[in-house]
Amino acid sequence: MGVRRRSGAFILQVNPILCDGFGHCAELAPELVKTDEWGYPILKSDPVPLADAGTYESARYAERGCPRQALHIHRISEKKPH
Ligand code: SF4
Repeated sequence: MGVRRRSGAFILQVNPILCDGFGHCAELAPELVKTDEWGYPILKSDPVPLADAGTYESARYAERGCPRQALHIHRISEKKPH
């Protein structure tokens, strides 16, 4: 059984209308989320490779742990050359 490498990348996105600004996500995924002075999340905007399993796992914790379901992992697929 071989190990399948994940290709592509992801970014964590927030719906600012749903977010309550308590900043729980910054505790769950500190490498992806900082908070502003009011506690609202500032998300890392650069895509993260899916192969970075630790960071992807943190994003999933944050997505699942958000009490307002305001977070979403947006996958970006790699374009295959023709
Ligand atoms: S955990 Fe969810 S509701 Fe709380 S600050 Fe983060 S995105 Fe907003």
